[in-house]
Amino acid sequence: MSTKRVLLKLSGESLCDDSSSISEGSLLRTVNEIKSAISCSKVQLAIVVGGGNIWRGAGKFIERITADNMGMLATVVNSLALSAALTKIGIRSNVFSADGVSGFVENFDKKKVINYIERGYVVIFAGGTGKPSCTTDTTAVLRAMEIEANMLLKATQVDGVYNVDPKKDKNAVKYDSLTFKEALDKHLEIMDAEVFSLCMYTNISITVFDFYKDGNLRKVLNGEKIGTIVEA
Ligand code: UDP
Repeated sequence: MSTKRVLLKLSGESLCDDSSSISEGSLLRTVNEIKSAISCSKVQLAIVVGGGNIWRGAGKFIERITADNMGMLATVVNSLALSAALTKIGIRSNVFSADGVSGFVENFDKKKVINYIERGYVVIFAGGTGKPSCTTDTTAVLRAMEIEANMLLKATQVDGVYNVDPKKDKNAVKYDSLTFKEALDKHLEIMDAEVFSLCMYTNISITVFDFYKDGNLRKVLNGEKIGTIVEA
């Protein structure tokens, strides 16, 4: 079995519950899922975590660019929490931030990052792209390209990509696989549209899967066909 290099995109919601933006219970479940998945597959893992559990969107008093900067800082908070919890359960990890977002962790440096990944660390990318007006989905694909990952895993609350929102339409049909072009043409709201345009000419595949079903991350990493795979 050859080693796969994987970028896992987690949403901030993977760390929260109904009463707090970072809940120790959710954090523990997330890191345990990661531990169980990497212990039985040959994989080098990097993670991009979002910030939506702490902050998302502009408001009456907080204009867009400030709101986006707050969102990026929220991803730093989440990355520190994730890294601390991974360390606590015996998984070595290190956090790298986009330039200029955090003074608490090292700035992204490709050589250093690859070195850590190859030594078995779980590397966490904080601070988004460092630029406003995009999301951590875009960050995930850009970082996946930079570290030459083969797979991007998009952890969601649904079990794949549907033709229409399965929460709104009980006749929604799930796709097992799609091309990036089909995802763009069908205007499927899975990830930011630029993600698919960026991936079109790479050999990165994106698997959209239900992260909240125990064991699913392990299954995806072991090559089981769950969720929806989007590829060139
Ligand atoms: N954000 C940004 N630039 C980036 C990444 C994130 O401006 O490169 C901001 C954006 O406002 C976004 C917020 O940070 O909505 C939180 O990230 P995201 O929505 O991706 O978090 P998630 O939904 O995955 O928890």
